[in-house]
Amino acid sequence: MKWWWVLGFYLGMQPALHAMDEATFDAFKQQGLDQLVLRFSDIAPLLHQHQQNPLFEFTELGHSVLGTPIYQIKLGRGDTRVLAWTQMHGDEPTATAAIFDLLKFIADDAQGMWRESWMEHLTLYIIPMVNPDGAEIYSRVNAQGIDINRDALALQSPEGRILMDAAKRIEPHYAFNLHDQNRFLAAGNSGNPATISLLAPAFNEARDINDSRRRAMQLIAYVRPMIEQEIPGHLGRYDDTFSVRSFGDTFSSFGISTVLVEAGGHRNDDHRQVARRLNFLMYLKWLNAIASGSYRQADLAEHDAIPFNQRSMKDVLIENVRLTLNEQPALLDLAFDLNWEVSRSARIDDIGDLSVFGAYHRFDAAGLDFQPGRAYRVTEPLELTLPHYLDLLRGGYTHFVGDKELLRNRTALPVLLNPGRQLPTEALRRHQSPTFLLRNDDAVQYAVINGQVIELVQGRVLYRYGS
Ligand SMILES: [Zn+2]
Repeated sequence: MKWWWVLGFYLGMQPALHAMDEATFDAFKQQGLDQLVLRFSDIAPLLHQHQQNPLFEFTELGHSVLGTPIYQIKLGRGDTRVLAWTQMHGDEPTATAAIFDLLKFIADDAQGMWRESWMEHLTLYIIPMVNPDGAEIYSRVNAQGIDINRDALALQSPEGRILMDAAKRIEPHYAFNLHDQNRFLAAGNSGNPATISLLAPAFNEARDINDSRRRAMQLIAYVRPMIEQEIPGHLGRYDDTFSVRSFGDTFSSFGISTVLVEAGGHRNDDHRQVARRLNFLMYLKWLNAIASGSYRQADLAEHDAIPFNQRSMKDVLIENVRLTLNEQPALLDLAFDLNWEVSRSARIDDIGDLSVFGAYHRFDAAGLDFQPGRAYRVTEPLELTLPHYLDLLRGGYTHFVGDKELLRNRTALPVLLNPGRQLPTEALRRHQSPTFLLRNDDAVQYAVINGQVIELVQGRVLYRYGS
């Protein structure tokens, strides 16, 4: 008996649905989608594969500006209609991966017990990757430069028109608007990233609560206990200021119970696989609960207890750095912004008392002094070995200048060559490269190279990009 059958049986028997742990999820999730960037070419083979499955009814709804097809996948045969769409912002792919996990889960459910528990009550319409042109170049907007989620009224983008036409044709009772959010959002003042944020968008400026909006709030209330059990303190809520141009708010004004789901950051999870798993688990719970109506028992207090998002996360926080400011001794915290995977860049983002911020990576520099680094000029071929590099760092060099063909980095440590940003001198400033040294009275102890902290005794990086 295959494990997923056991799981499917279990889910079918357990409408309350207990959460699936990470190892179980990893074993069965759709392979090949654990990426920062998801393009149409990543999902095209999966679309093709699922298109062969009689459970899934495919319709080509139209094309993006640059001619990529946008599909609708229809499942189930019930009277209650649910519409979900992903990646209308091209650089927000997490829910696309989670939707393919759901499709795989349904396709693999050989006995069909779980899916049959809701398919006779529900018809689910999924539009994956509404903005394939943006996805192709990791851009929020479409190929016309339009933010599709601000085009719900004007409908000047073909992608926005496809989504609106779908909603008008389907007349869904429920809508799930699936996005990714900024990694700097924290769940309230927890100091934790908001790995999942939810919102039942307002349908008017007064932010009234009518029956359809209340249902959306109850759907949120219904999944909160599961999320808090899985990732305690990492669930946030969006501000419900009415956004007249957005699809979620517009659909809400049509009387569709609409839930906005935002996948966010998590520590040691740059590719948002935690948010992906939670998305998947929410989809399972919502399908069951909408089919059975059980979510209507959910207490709105569960919704109201979710803290609002706060923009209070930093990528890296270096605390208690000693330095001299205006000839006076000073103690400062430094925050860095890392955009390593996208632009291979890092910068100093904030300076001062940063004790109120949460961080993905935190390093206490108590007892250490800031020392600006020097440039090492490369004029002849240089094979950089670990002992040699550590000697240079301890000797006060933090970066190299010269012909990049001459330098061979034979270490696993980051090397900064011909930096594009200004480096800190005696003065630290925002937007400089986070590249400098930390020393005690005896010697340089740590080198900070393009935002990464290297401990100089063993020569190891304290945290890595992508970790
Ligand atoms: Zn978005």
